[in-house]
Amino acid sequence: MNDVILKEKLISEGATLVGFCDLGFSPIENQPELRYAVSIVVKLSDSVLKTIVDRPSISYFQYYRTVNYRLDQLCLTCVRYLEDKGFNAFPIAASQSIPTNKYSGIFQHKTVARLSGLGYIGKNALFITKEYGSKVRLATVLTDMPLSREGELILEDCGDCKICQNACPIGAIYGENFEPLNPNKDLLDREKCSQNMKRYQDVGRGAVCGLCIKACPKNKLK
Ligand code: SF4
Ligand code: SF4
Repeated sequence: MNDVILKEKLISEGATLVGFCDLGFSPIENQPELRYAVSIVVKLSDSVLKTIVDRPSISYFQYYRTVNYRLDQLCLTCVRYLEDKGFNAFPIAASQSIPTNKYSGIFQHKTVARLSGLGYIGKNALFITKEYGSKVRLATVLTDMPLSREGELILEDCGDCKICQNACPIGAIYGENFEPLNPNKDLLDREKCSQNMKRYQDVGRGAVCGLCIKACPKNKLK
């Protein structure tokens, strides 16, 4: 059962895309009922992305944080809606990390978005939507309200492209395709990527880079 009203509500409050899926398991310990997921996508501004040239910009950093805040607010809207209907709901923050893994959170948003049929995972390890390429940010709500994907999965479509690999200033991207049957395969060196971001203390307090997002031709920057 997919929820048209929930989708319309999230889009009216600022979501760009909304998808649903059945994960088949719950990522939350001792709450096996939370196997269904809502994927919430917000598109990034073309004009702000254009301010990234050979390093992140202060405009990108500030905007990135604002979009994350909006995504977290959308998660609260979603949780409230699901709880009002008598279901359980668990938000996963847009930007997250946990003490046991500084590069990941409770569960990957891009996995939920992919299983919801909203796009695929690119060689840059980012989520690529067919409408907006990698110029998106994501958040997730887990629930026990039965949900399922609308439409088919979108297959990986990077082909022979190496643009993001060449755009990375420290060679962190391996240039390999995501493998659905081996979803935990590393597509980039996260430690190297993190170290590179730390160079940009003046603009992003070491938290953003954006060069591989900006470079992806799937973005179709206006
Ligand atoms: S965010 Fe920057 S450092 Fe990290 S993989 Fe992309 S281009 Fe390389
Ligand atoms: S830049 Fe090319 S290889 Fe990298 S994610 Fe985009 S399409 Fe895929």
